[in-house]
Amino acid sequence: MSYPSMPKPNYFWSVGTMKCPRCRRGPMFKDSNPYRKLTLSHIFDMYEECPHCAQKYELETGFWYGTGYVSYALTVAFSAFTFIVWLILLV
Ligand SMILES: [Zn+2]
Repeated sequence: MSYPSMPKPNYFWSVGTMKCPRCRRGPMFKDSNPYRKLTLSHIFDMYEECPHCAQKYELETGFWYGTGYVSYALTVAFSAFTFIVWLILLV
């Protein structure tokens, strides 16, 4: 269902209108205007996949595990570094 000859819509327009990150045409959320009904339990209801290009919206399990390990290691390294610097400066 993609139209490769047609150019993609503007990136910022597609972000602002909550369109699919791949094709920038299909909606990501079931309700295009979350402020219309003001029912907070359904404002983040999403499609399983893009109705235009069939891009899956839900990431696979474990997608963010690598990011968690890297950020944990960086945080521990930064904390140890600042701890040692403060020990040197205060003693
Ligand atoms: Zn799409």
